[in-house]
This record gives sequence, structure tokens and C-alpha cells, in this order.
Amino acid sequence: MLADVRYWEKIAQKNHFAIPHFNVWNVEMLEGVMDACEQENSPVIISFGTGFIHNTIFEEYAGMMVSMAKHSSLPVITHWDHGRSFDIVKNGYDYGMNSVMRDASQLSFEENVAETKKVVEYFHPLNVGVEAELGHVADPNKYEKAMENYKYTDPSIAKKFVDQTHCDSLAVAIGQVHGVYTSKPSLNFDVLEKVSNVVSVPLVLHGASGIPDDQVSKAVSMGICKVNIHTDLGIAAMKAFNKHRDQLYLEVQKYVREGIKDEAVHKIHVLGSQSKAELKLDNY
Ligand SMILES: [Zn+2]
Repeated sequence: MLADVRYWEKIAQKNHFAIPHFNVWNVEMLEGVMDACEQENSPVIISFGTGFIHNTIFEEYAGMMVSMAKHSSLPVITHWDHGRSFDIVKNGYDYGMNSVMRDASQLSFEENVAETKKVVEYFHPLNVGVEAELGHVADPNKYEKAMENYKYTDPSIAKKFVDQTHCDSLAVAIGQVHGVYTSKPSLNFDVLEKVSNVVSVPLVLHGASGIPDDQVSKAVSMGICKVNIHTDLGIAAMKAFNKHRDQLYLEVQKYVREGIKDEAVHKIHVLGSQSKAELKLDNY
């Protein structure tokens, strides 16, 4: 069933697990992650973003995302990831995403507040949760290079940001980057703890592929309620593809779906979201 991201992030926060957010942009990915969540009885966020528009026509693909969400017995949230403008986010909503992220993290604090606020004011009356980002999760790059000018989430302004924007969840930059890590990443738990102490909304970890499982689990225990995963699904898909590449594509596709499923199951266990689909929240 289609579910409310705000409700589920609160359940995750209260029960100390994180909801998996899987970026999906083809049938294998969508079916693979849904197979995993059905098997593990996990709530899930299936998500699309601008980075995939050269692979897949979102406006067509969204129909399948929404249909699978509605037909599933699990709580499923459809999400637009990293919306770089109001119009992009609105387009995501118009085609069935019931949760959005407005990412204005590359702008100044004031501009980020203004942009996020605009999206919150538009979407809250529509019952759509809004995620924002403070600090900036670096883009794919050499890890050491990305860390030289890394924009960590500043704990001293995090509360002000949430209070002024009324965002429902906050993506933090704590030493992680998007894409493939070129050396072993290490999360800055000191920053996470400080942000977690001053902000009451659920926190979000982007760029989680490639971060050692123990670090991700620790981040979840410290207040991360949603974890974004894309790259590791792609790596699992390529492993399956390469292993079975001599067979017909018709068969290879099934192995790819299975490979993605197995990786998603692993992530679900790292985040502790297995067997959580029936949880309820009192007084919501
Ligand atoms: Zn991200």
C-alpha cells in the first residue's frame, strides 16, 4: 500500500531502525528490491531522481512504481530524490511520488531555507513529506579530494534550519559521498551526535553504498532513520550479469533481479528494518 513517509520515519525513529531508500530506474531494480522487502517484511521507500532520466522515462516508469506500491501488502513510499528545483519536485509529485526531497544544499543557508520552505508550504497541505539537506553530501569524486573541501552539516545551525523550514526529515553530511568510494570511508560520528542532539526530526544518510556495515548500523543507532542506497544495487546487478553473461538476456535478467534482491536483503538487515512492516504508531 502507499504509505506516508512522515509516519514511517517516526516509527523508525521510535524503534531505532532505518527505512531503506532504494533508488530504482528499471524493472530489475524495482522488482528486485520489492522481492527483498516482501521476503523480509520491511517498509520501503522506492525512489527516482534526475540522475536517471537519461536511462528511463520517469513519467512512464512512475506508473509502475505507483502500481507496485499500491498492490503490495507492505507500506511503500514513492519518493523523488534530490529535487534541484521546485518544478522538478512538483513534476515528481504530479506523476505519483508521495514524498519528496528538495535539495538546495549547494546554495547559501538563507537560500536553502527559502527554497525548502517554499516546497514545504506547497506540499504539507497535500500530505506530502519533505526532506531537506544541510551541509552537502559530496558528488562522486576521489574520496580524499572530496574530503578536502567537505561541507559537513553544521550542528550550530541545524536546529535553526529545521525550525525555519519545517522540513520533515534532514539529510546530513557526515563524511559520506555519492557513488563509488575510492578509499575506505569513515563517517564523522561526532558531527552526527551533535546534530542528533539539537534536531528532533528524523535524520537521513545518503551515499550509504560502500560504507562498512558496522558504520551504517552505528549511524542508525545514533538517529539515522532513512538510508539511501543506489550504487551497491548496481554493483550487485553487474556481478550477476557478468556471472551469467553467456546466457540469453531473457535468463540473465532474472539473475540480475535476484542479485539485486540479495543485496537489498543484506541492506535491510544492516538497517534493522526486517519484520517492521506491521508496526504502528499511537497518537499520530
Ligand atoms: Zn543522495
